[in-house]
Amino acid sequence: MNWRVGEVKITKIVELEVTGGSRFILPQASPEEILPVAWLRPDFADERGRLRMSIHALVIETPDRRIIVDTCLGNDKENRRIPTWNSLQTSFLADPAAADYARETIDTGICTHLHVDHVGWNTMLVDRHWVSTFPNARYLMGRIEFEHWARQHEREDMAVVLADSVMPVWEAGLVDLVETDHRICDEVSLVPTPGHTPGHVSVRIASRSEEALITGDFMHHPCQIARPAWSSTADSNPGEAQRTRERMLTRLADAPILVIGTHFAGRTAGCVVRDGGTYRLE
Ligand SMILES: [Zn+2]
Repeated sequence: MNWRVGEVKITKIVELEVTGGSRFILPQASPEEILPVAWLRPDFADERGRLRMSIHALVIETPDRRIIVDTCLGNDKENRRIPTWNSLQTSFLADPAAADYARETIDTGICTHLHVDHVGWNTMLVDRHWVSTFPNARYLMGRIEFEHWARQHEREDMAVVLADSVMPVWEAGLVDLVETDHRICDEVSLVPTPGHTPGHVSVRIASRSEEALITGDFMHHPCQIARPAWSSTADSNPGEAQRTRERMLTRLADAPILVIGTHFAGRTAGCVVRDGGTYRLE
């Protein structure tokens, strides 16, 4: 699945898609609340009102750059809080969608934030060592985000993620810490969208007067387009996350911007339009 934005091509590479089991992340999104929001079916919810979600990476190809945004869960990782995320053996790197993008040809990795499902393929296991999956890439991580998690010593779940998926590339000298409005190249820049995590960013792509936005997790699921007040249990600051969603949705609804959701399943992308007192994805 891919999209064109001017001279830029954006390609989705799926690691996992799941239906249901998302109440722990969006407790307000019960089937009774989801079923009346008809536009969510079939891409984002099933006929029983269960949410469909996806973990995927997005490759941005500009005329002279190859950038991967968010590197999913990764294979062989252990001690994840969600049992099914342990010891994965997916064919992510061999995905036909990724056939044009051999890992050696990626020049930049961007993490919208440093949660477990956004950093996994930063590294892969080779001879029992974690090494960079994208050996010719600089890994861009938010300075605020990196410094925040480096201080959270009581978060054991984050410590194991940092140890196997962030510190190996840091120690290899491959990380550049960047500000939340960093410009990567003519077509690609970061947009601060805090609240899910303190240094969370989205990714703006603009080329030949066309524009797209890769959300990251300021929205986990399109149901939050209809219900911006629903925060995820993973939001570090739910109030700030809600203010970010409301600010971004207002902006997106007033412009022809292709919104590409980091966890949006099915067709994954669309334009935000006003829908009564709220919004929907079209
Ligand atoms: Zn996520």
